[in-house]
Amino acid sequence: MRIGKNAKKALLTVAAAALVIIICVVVYVKENEKKMMPQDYPFCVCFFNVGQGDCELIRCDGVNVLIDGGEAEYGYQTEQYLKACGVEKLDCYILTHPHSDHIGCSAHILRTFPVDTVMTTSFNEFNMPTTKVYEDMLAATEETGAQLVEVKGGESYSFGDLSLKILSPLEETDDYNDMSITVRAKYKSDAFLFMGDASKDVEAQLLNTKAVLSADVLKVGHHGSDSSTGEAFLKAVSPDHAVISCGADNAFGHPHASTLRLLEKYDVDVYRTDLNGSVIFYGYGHKLNVWCAS
Ligand SMILES: [Zn+2]
Repeated sequence: MRIGKNAKKALLTVAAAALVIIICVVVYVKENEKKMMPQDYPFCVCFFNVGQGDCELIRCDGVNVLIDGGEAEYGYQTEQYLKACGVEKLDCYILTHPHSDHIGCSAHILRTFPVDTVMTTSFNEFNMPTTKVYEDMLAATEETGAQLVEVKGGESYSFGDLSLKILSPLEETDDYNDMSITVRAKYKSDAFLFMGDASKDVEAQLLNTKAVLSADVLKVGHHGSDSSTGEAFLKAVSPDHAVISCGADNAFGHPHASTLRLLEKYDVDVYRTDLNGSVIFYGYGHKLNVWCAS
């Protein structure tokens, strides 16, 4: 079939118009992306600066999962961090273990934001905490009607495309650090490993389970202490980035020089909340960008 001159002209005009529209859409999307804040992306993981403590937010397609929150004195600060990220409710609030640098402000957070589920580590009648911060957290959970769930290693939870694999605790212990809930969070092809304050003993247990440990980002265990982050464990995780959550000039000497040396040996990019302030990873689930407050 022969195409007439006029028809040819019309086809070329339509093709040129389509090309212009495509270019405009691409430029519009790219320009809009430049204006986007990290928390506007479908996947964003924030390591908030709460001094000598831990506080991490996973925001994924509108789902909010908070891990710890820092000392009680950081309650207002943590509330402001969450509000700045657009958080109005928490789908899940993981309290890794009962030390105050992790759960100190949990009662304040529970009373400020609606929370669906609070996850705590598993206790028995002998190691159940009796500290004020723990009892305040329990009171706030009961008062607000949040569901309290004790979790163990091996369990899996999913929130849309976000999967949370609870890696530990695997064994009963009286050591609160080793009771830490450790979690591998995965969204599309991006994975994060949150180690709480778990020690090298727990890392060895995890290596024995043959669980998948690989992660793009490792939340270094126990604020960079030398009691965590063994070499075999780091090799198994093989992270591109590591985040150490610790206070400036803290009394514990965190992070330990040997931990920093090991991370350097394996060419891991290290971010520290004492030096970088809050650190935010964000993207679409297949490549991570990073933003630091300072
Ligand atoms: Zn701690």
